[in-house]
Amino acid sequence: AIPLVVSIATERAAKGGVLIKDRLALEGMRQVSSVLFDKTGTLTVGEPVVIEVSAVPGHSENQVLALAAAAESDSEHPLAKAIMRAADERKLQLSPATDFRSSPAEGVQASVDGASIGVGGPHLLATHGLDPLEASEAWKAHGATILHVIANGRVIGALALADEIRPESRAAVDALHARGVEVVMITGDAEAVAESVGRELGIDRVFAGVRPENKAAKVAELQAEGRKVAMVGDGVNDAPALAQADVGIAIGAGTDVAIASAGVILASDDPRSVLSILDLSQASYRKMK
Ligand code: ADP
Ligand code: MG
Repeated sequence: AIPLVVSIATERAAKGGVLIKDRLALEGMRQVSSVLFDKTGTLTVGEPVVIEVSAVPGHSENQVLALAAAAESDSEHPLAKAIMRAADERKLQLSPATDFRSSPAEGVQASVDGASIGVGGPHLLATHGLDPLEASEAWKAHGATILHVIANGRVIGALALADEIRPESRAAVDALHARGVEVVMITGDAEAVAESVGRELGIDRVFAGVRPENKAAKVAELQAEGRKVAMVGDGVNDAPALAQADVGIAIGAGTDVAIASAGVILASDDPRSVLSILDLSQASYRKMK
């Protein structure tokens, strides 16, 4: 039977937008020594904005942006939406795209105006054996996410996108530290961006450039060090890591897959709600002793 204090706690939690799907998750939260946050959409707002466009000689910025937007038009990724918005703001005419393919760690690929267009991060450049544009190195130092636009195997330009850190993230990290909990961040984004966000938030450890299929392995790595891990994430990408963690926490609107893999669901997208689970767990199980 479910102890009364726990069912009362669970009911109280539900009112605060915390849904305990798995009672063991609430119990396990008490022992958590590391909280692992997904970056995009969890610690950051997850609504990036295009802040710079650069084109190589022979191409215009608008042309680069229009080709990128056309190639991204079938993608649901927040980066794709940002590129579409930027093209829309500049009132650019988009050609239709065919043969759309997306690879979660690299980006997208599509045929536009008879050319094979690729848009993506460092993994995509590496796959093509291409070097980043010089301009992008400066943007990177400012913590922007850099995407390169490739046409028929040649770099024709690059885009810098910035995502805002959630105003509540710093308080969440500080409160976890005050309870002696290590805070770790995991992201598919590039090292420079991850380091910049990590520094700003005072995060203890940063795992950057992690391909979606490797996120669960990173959780297992922490567990092998003897840490009890709570993983907080929202994306389809995060589902295996949520399942691997001692406590899986799906945050915000979350995707169905993330919700199915988590033991706790937070209706709010405020990272400080993780503290509510921790407090709830401690209060519930202290009362039972
Ligand atoms: P996170 O792990 O921070 O949530 P993702 O795993 O969603 O980030 O994306 C990681 C990286 O993959 C991005 O920073 C980008 O380089 C590349 N990427 C993924 N989807 C796209 C896309 N639709 N267009 C361009 N690049 C993409
Ligand atoms: Mg994400």
